[in-house]
Amino acid sequence: MDMPPPDPAILARKPEIVARLRSILPADAVIDDAHETRAYECDAFTAYRCPPLAAVLPRSTAEVSAVLAACHAMGVPVVPRGSGTSLAGGALPTADCVILGVARLTEVLEEEHGFFYAPDPSSQLACAIAGNIAMNSGGAHCLKYGVTTNNLLGATLVLMDGTVIELGGAHLDAPGLDLLGVICGSEGQLGVVTEATLRILPKPEGARPVLMGFDSSEVAGACVADIIRAGVLPVAIEFMDRPCIRACEDFAHAGYPDVEALLIVEVEGSEAEIDHQLGLIKDIAHRHAPEVLRESGSAEESALIWKGRKSAFGAMGQINDYICLDGTIPVSELPKVLKGIGELSARYGLGVARRAWRRGGEARPDGRSVHARRSGGTDGGEGRVRSGLAAEPRQGVPAGGKRGPPCRAKGGRVRGALPPSPPRRGLPTEYFRKDEGQWSEAGRRA
Ligand SMILES: Cc1cc2nc3c(=O)[nH]c(=O)nc-3n(C[C@H](O)[C@H](O)[C@H](O)COP(=O)(O)OP(=O)(O)OC[C@H]3O[C@@H](n4cnc5c(N)ncnc54)[C@H](O)[C@@H]3O)c2cc1C
Repeated sequence: MDMPPPDPAILARKPEIVARLRSILPADAVIDDAHETRAYECDAFTAYRCPPLAAVLPRSTAEVSAVLAACHAMGVPVVPRGSGTSLAGGALPTADCVILGVARLTEVLEEEHGFFYAPDPSSQLACAIAGNIAMNSGGAHCLKYGVTTNNLLGATLVLMDGTVIELGGAHLDAPGLDLLGVICGSEGQLGVVTEATLRILPKPEGARPVLMGFDSSEVAGACVADIIRAGVLPVAIEFMDRPCIRACEDFAHAGYPDVEALLIVEVEGSEAEIDHQLGLIKDIAHRHAPEVLRESGSAEESALIWKGRKSAFGAMGQINDYICLDGTIPVSELPKVLKGIGELSARYGLGVARRAWRRGGEARPDGRSVHARRSGGTDGGEGRVRSGLAAEPRQGVPAGGKRGPPCRAKGGRVRGALPPSPPRRGLPTEYFRKDEGQWSEAGRRA
């Protein structure tokens, strides 16, 4: 598979384009050396690599605006980039484009102590808020707190012609059209986010995860469905199957039990609240005859449990090359979908590691806002489980065809992390099956 060919007319004008960028930005903010631009040749989706024509690192909204206006006038494509942790090739350049990196937009304009910003993608140590906004990212704790779109109050956006617009404000649900909702998850295609006002929440008094091990993925899925049905609201519910448990355990030594399927369920609040909620959850779990039921006994143990789960992508990469797929499933259908994936895996002899987490989006009324000039998907998720899946790549096996059918059959959606959207990047479509339609595009827009 090849990258789309660059426009030779743009390549021929490189000296002129770079000179124009240098006239706008300080010398250290324009990178055009062939060795140095290689740092921007891909994101975390490393199957494609292509150094850009140049990379720029502006320090302010005004500089971003000037760069975009100049590139617009010169007809040069621009790809915004946060920290480059996208797994979908979103920040992947072509040879005739300028990468606009926002790594220098790190100023915190307002801050309040004793609060926290809830969205916690596993890549949170590295990724940028602008990247989170562009991908509508979320993590383990989205069940209670939602994903980025539920925690974004306002943004400064520079359109591709350099026009600066302000969206939203310091509160949720600003009047007028929900343009913030359009920006969130738009993968950098509508403009460059340079500032964000984020909802921050009071830190909970405490939190405690419990590990629940089951003898099958189906039973673990049924337990999740029962917890949700009972109206209990943990802050996180995570599912991992045996290959995923093993990979994470080998990588992080988190103390996971050797079981077929593992749930990590975390609740938070005061000690009394935690005990009460965990009591309800453990009662439900006992109905499914768990092989292991273990509460975390200390903050260190809790941290280790989450370290294991958050290492899943990296841990899987240590075993094999893999294709990562991502989809949402109605929670009541989770047991059947997990079973269906297992059957497909066995039928095709394709190793599959599954992890899933319950998504939510509850808006807490006690949130405040914090304004950051930090450049750093929801699928809504209400009543759904988002499931990540790693499968060994194998030639001739359509990625969408593996996990797509069980998800769709149960009324869920597939959000493909691979390959990048062909219409945007002009990339080849070998991974798509004709009879599957445009599943990745549909999932992307859902
Ligand atoms: C180990 C690992 C674990 C991960 N875990 C999760 C997870 O739990 N949940 C999750 O949701 N994702 C996860 N991801 C994916 C990724 O980290 C997120 O999508 C993250 O939000 C990307 O942020 P970034 O700053 O790295 O963005 P980049 O990769 O730099 O860019 C991502 C997209 O955002 C656009 N963009 C970047 N900056 C801007 C800007 N200023 N304005 C407009 N558009 C912009 C880019 O053009 C691109 O399309 C994981 C990735 C890795 C490698």
